[in-house]
Amino acid sequence: MNIGLTILILCICAAAMLAKHTADMGRMDMGRGCEPFPGALGYFCPLDGRIVLNRPAIIRDFNSGFKYWAEPSTASGRQKNVVFRRMKITPQEFRKIVKSAAGYIRFIELHELAHKRLGHKGGPLMAEGTIQNEIEANREALVAMGKLW
Ligand SMILES: [Zn+2]
Repeated sequence: MNIGLTILILCICAAAMLAKHTADMGRMDMGRGCEPFPGALGYFCPLDGRIVLNRPAIIRDFNSGFKYWAEPSTASGRQKNVVFRRMKITPQEFRKIVKSAAGYIRFIELHELAHKRLGHKGGPLMAEGTIQNEIEANREALVAMGKLW
């Protein structure tokens, strides 16, 4: 293969990766679009009412001490960090609330069901309305788990 063609192919691949990344970011900003973004623990699709739980990721996050939102490395994790801070729930307290990985899965499911019940449509991750929706969904999940919040 000649060098010019190799460079052309590399450029096409880089452009495709950039386009995919941009599309992912767009979906993230949509928040509740119908493609879960990588690393998401669960999500609700307002278009068809589907709730998807990423059980392996939830179990991993429980075992890591809730790194997803306690030490976030993704935009959605940073949003959850703000949500838990506003609710004044530390990872240590949260562990006592959910008790186990199974409890954490139940919490995420109840959180997504709350988004569905409340008719949340999502929005930009850090917009005040979106943060308020996340707090509301967390509250409902906690109340459903017998934690009056
Ligand atoms: Zn949520």
